[in-house]
Amino acid sequence: MGIWAYFCATMANESNKPVSVANTFQNIISHCKEYGFIFPSSEIYDGLQAVYDYGQMGSELKKNIKDYWWKSMTQLHDNIVGIDAAIFMHPTTWKASGHVDNFNDPMIDNKDSKKRYRVDHLIEAHAEGLNVSGKIQEAEKLLSEMDTLLAKDDFAGLKKLIEDNKIKCSISETCNWTDIRQFNLMFSTEFGSTVSSDGEDNKIYLRPETAQGIFVNFLNVQKSGRMKIPFGIAQIGKAFRNEIVARQFIFRMREFEQMEMQFFIRPGTQKEWYEFWKAERLKWHQNLGIPTEKYRFHDHIKLAHYADAACDIEFNFPIGFKELEGIHSRTDFDLKNHQEFSKKKQQYFDNDVDPATGKPYGNYIPYVIETSIGLDRMFLAVISHAYEEQDLSEGDKKDSRVVLKLPAKLAPIKLAVLPLTKKDGLPEIAETIMSNCRPHFKCFYEEKDSIGKRYRRMDALGTPFCVTVDHQTKEDDTVTIRHRDSMQQERVAIGDLLNIVTKALE
Ligand code: ATP
Repeated sequence: MGIWAYFCATMANESNKPVSVANTFQNIISHCKEYGFIFPSSEIYDGLQAVYDYGQMGSELKKNIKDYWWKSMTQLHDNIVGIDAAIFMHPTTWKASGHVDNFNDPMIDNKDSKKRYRVDHLIEAHAEGLNVSGKIQEAEKLLSEMDTLLAKDDFAGLKKLIEDNKIKCSISETCNWTDIRQFNLMFSTEFGSTVSSDGEDNKIYLRPETAQGIFVNFLNVQKSGRMKIPFGIAQIGKAFRNEIVARQFIFRMREFEQMEMQFFIRPGTQKEWYEFWKAERLKWHQNLGIPTEKYRFHDHIKLAHYADAACDIEFNFPIGFKELEGIHSRTDFDLKNHQEFSKKKQQYFDNDVDPATGKPYGNYIPYVIETSIGLDRMFLAVISHAYEEQDLSEGDKKDSRVVLKLPAKLAPIKLAVLPLTKKDGLPEIAETIMSNCRPHFKCFYEEKDSIGKRYRRMDALGTPFCVTVDHQTKEDDTVTIRHRDSMQQERVAIGDLLNIVTKALE
């Protein structure tokens, strides 16, 4: 079975969600493929699990999300600059960062089906099942016991919890479990074609996060950019994780993109900057017009090895509230370790005067607040919120449409230009509109099919505006502009088009 078929077949069974919710998610996935947003990777060979390609529409939407984030970070904050570090990094980076020793997830295998599960996901899925059947207190108790055991790395206790709750494998339906083991999520490969003369190991990792590319360039950027603390470095790039449970479409992929920003601060100020970035990031999401109820904060109980405070911004995906973005107070863990492993000082000289001592703050290793959002998860959040199936039937006249109510600034196409017919000089007028608007935003020209069908297709792609060129246009230089969400049409002068669309993109 191809990966797409496998995915669609297993979604409803494994999500433990009511059927209609699973159906909506499946419909979104099918829509993404049908309209050129997302395809399974190397589909002609039946795909590759948890790896996806973005199509002609998807890559535009993805790029618009990137631009929205990049602009908000690097243009709207004078003290944040962007970099683009390489995916390959010196292998010692990952020893210093703790990933070689700590980037593990506890896993358990079912002895009958041989299927491997991430322990927290297995227990969470069971708790969701309890929730759906109304056993809410039981579910809460299970999750809180899990959190306590995870925080202590008590694997024997976790296994007992799974057995006591009779949690079964979804394939074999048995409780025949192995012991819990740690599994490192980093991909590795060989660097270069020969073994080096000093016998050094050629093993190199595909970065599991973009953050380390920022840390190792902290001093390069600070010195070359004459940056003064507090300042931030932003980056967008690919990350790779050998995820075990990878069946939630682009929510959890093995190759994905992150948009991360590390904000370097004076030690002791981390609490206020942590709160600042929590508020700032939520505002960024809300500025897209997605309702506040779709988001919630989730504070981490078990902190990662580098953090002194951490939370997630969770989004209400069709598969429930899940992590969309992490905000972490990373202390000086990373820079301090890079200093130790590289033997190169990672200090900053702060000549601002400390009011407590009347002297400059002097040399220190900065603390860091990190904001880290998955670009693909943001894509899924945006598209699943935008997706609507509407029944437009009136009386006996059946009608419906699927519309993507994407924020105009994220939509792949901003304006569709549609001549009513292929003759009478209408295509020529449409082409003039195209050439006026094309330099300013992405336009699309279409003359095939009835106008109604063309509108529906643009709705499905999330195009906020369609203009129709008709015979009246020849008389008075006006066109009909149709608004995607309300489907309202109005007559406007061709000369006003550029303004109308540009205003909606602000
Ligand atoms: P999770 O608990 O869901 O595995 P995480 O806590 O390991 O995520 P972080 O290491 O904090 O995630 O990474 C920051 C962001 O990168 C996440 O909030 C998420 O949006 C994104 N991300 C992480 N892993 C993946 C993945 N496998 N596929 C897609 N996006 C991911």
